[in-house]
Amino acid sequence: MSDLASFRGDVRAFLDEHLPAELRVGYRPDLPEEPLRQWEAALAGRGWFTPEWPIEYGGAGLDPEQTAVLRAELRAARAPVESPTGLRLLGSTLLEFGTEEQKLQHLPGVARNEVRWCQGFSEPGAGSDLASLQCRAELDGDEYVINGSKIWTSLGSYAKYMILLARTATDGPNKYAGLSFFLSPMDVPGVEPQPIRKLTGEYGFCQTFFTDARIPASCLLGEEGGGWQVAMLTLTFERGATGGQAGGLSSMDMGVGDVVELARRAKRNGRPAIEDPLIRDELVKLVIESKGHQMMGARADVPALASDWPAATAMSGKLRGSELKRRMCKLAVSLQGANGARYVSADAIDGGMWQRSYFNAFSATIGGGTSQIQKNILGERVLGLPK
Ligand SMILES: Cc1cc2nc3c(=O)[nH]c(=O)nc-3n(C[C@H](O)[C@H](O)[C@H](O)COP(=O)(O)OP(=O)(O)OC[C@H]3O[C@@H](n4cnc5c(N)ncnc54)[C@H](O)[C@@H]3O)c2cc1C
Repeated sequence: MSDLASFRGDVRAFLDEHLPAELRVGYRPDLPEEPLRQWEAALAGRGWFTPEWPIEYGGAGLDPEQTAVLRAELRAARAPVESPTGLRLLGSTLLEFGTEEQKLQHLPGVARNEVRWCQGFSEPGAGSDLASLQCRAELDGDEYVINGSKIWTSLGSYAKYMILLARTATDGPNKYAGLSFFLSPMDVPGVEPQPIRKLTGEYGFCQTFFTDARIPASCLLGEEGGGWQVAMLTLTFERGATGGQAGGLSSMDMGVGDVVELARRAKRNGRPAIEDPLIRDELVKLVIESKGHQMMGARADVPALASDWPAATAMSGKLRGSELKRRMCKLAVSLQGANGARYVSADAIDGGMWQRSYFNAFSATIGGGTSQIQKNILGERVLGLPK
């Protein structure tokens, strides 16, 4: 047996032992607490929240092939694996720019999924045009004093730390200069997150107000004034990731196979919807796109196909994947006919997960860069089209 096949066997045995049937439904806000806690502790114990990170920072030191096998098995088992900001964004950025002290201070807590982080980039007047942000950080002795506000902060009310992009100088040659990147504690006086209600009815994100909030100068990541370069790396990971869900809770890692299965159960004029030629046509298109998306993802692992600009495959994947998922969920809701309007009622199909997923699916087309911005970046920087 190859090493990889034996590793797959190891993962399956782990899943048999630690993942009970009640959790094999993907990540949902209503999962039973204690079994979920035990499952996450088991996952963290193997370093499998952050499988590719070095062991000294709480990871498992897996190579890319092993990581891919692990992810595929977790997905196939519908294991609930939260992908919070700390894991997706902070970790990779800190590994690149952090001092050894910062890495050892922050990474193990993130790897165990014990310390929650949020991202403080967007402001009411600065989203797509992020470099226009106005939140100020002024050095005063050995502290920075923060004033301003951040918005759409996913999980900001629950986070212990924020990755914060703020302006430390206003007299630079352009708007990018003078931005600095901080690993900022949320539990200091003068930091106030105010929850914002989402389309789904949940409180996934908030607006965070800073009023003379003082944070240690050692919270600076990288150079003062070098925040834009750090933030760009973070955004590369975010734009290449699966996309935000305003709370990091991916309500369901469903695939097109689940929509096909729903089409078998849902009725159209008394017949299974899958027998309707128009529905079949839609399903076939989605199956083809989904397969194409999957195969494009695999290209990222083949250096010869991803050498010009390695992030291009992942970034186009975010655009394709988020838009595909939105359309997939839309079809799943429309398959339900009038029942599609039932979202929170007891008789909602599949507990209303399709409706929740459809609402949430919009978030991934906006968070981390809207689809329009992704298209601009891909057009200009990957295809070399004129601005
Ligand atoms: C679910 C979710 C979670 C989020 N989580 C966080 C978070 O944790 N932390 C954080 O800092 N931010 C977060 N955001 C904010 C997100 O990064 C911004 O919403 C996003 O960057 C868009 O900015 P905006 O909302 O200000 O829209 P705007 O930038 O005002 O854009 C409005 C519209 O104009 C279009 N547009 C703007 N500029 C251009 C252009 N040059 N060319 C073509 N079209 C353009 C956009 O595509 C969009 O359709 C989150 C957003 C969502 C939806």
